[in-house]
Amino acid sequence: MTGAAVKAALGLGSNLGDRAAHIAEACRHLAQNPKVRLLSVSALYETDPWGMTEQGPFLNACAAMETTLEPKPLLEFCLATERLMGRVREERWGPRIIDLDILIYGAAVVKEQHLTIPHPHMAERGFVIVPLAEIWPEALIGGRSAKALAADFKGDPSIRRFAPGPELTAWTG
Ligand code: AMP
Repeated sequence: MTGAAVKAALGLGSNLGDRAAHIAEACRHLAQNPKVRLLSVSALYETDPWGMTEQGPFLNACAAMETTLEPKPLLEFCLATERLMGRVREERWGPRIIDLDILIYGAAVVKEQHLTIPHPHMAERGFVIVPLAEIWPEALIGGRSAKALAADFKGDPSIRRFAPGPELTAWTG
């Protein structure tokens, strides 16, 4: 990776098929992008679905990385990875093989038609904040740290630690 790198965080989610394998595969794609240096991936959390609640539970995780991709190319990479992994976009908030969201990109604030960073509503979503706090506790969201925000979800039964995150060494050396 050459050029100035920015620290960023992605949220990953899956609620179809082998959910843990899908999250691991998405991390492998990230790690194999020459413009990304994957730093860490959180544990996997099983979480109750939002929006459309008539669907199976999700596994969620967060990944921290350094990247020389600008926000838009990073979004394009996330969407391309979702497509490559066979995600079909059907109903909003419906079941999905994989969902990749840009949560934080350095201190950047982006408000464009197809891209909002920090990711909207993340502070209220335990399935985002709990794994984020694990890998990047000092990340700031609306002036509060991920660690402080995650404390609000302590003991929340809708967010259950499920398994360790994927092993990174195979891809990152
Ligand atoms: P969803 O898959 O339901 O999370 O929606 C994905 C769409 O949300 C993408 O096509 C993006 O254009 C848009 N979007 C807006 N902000 C973000 C973000 N921070 N990360 C990922 N997608 C975003």
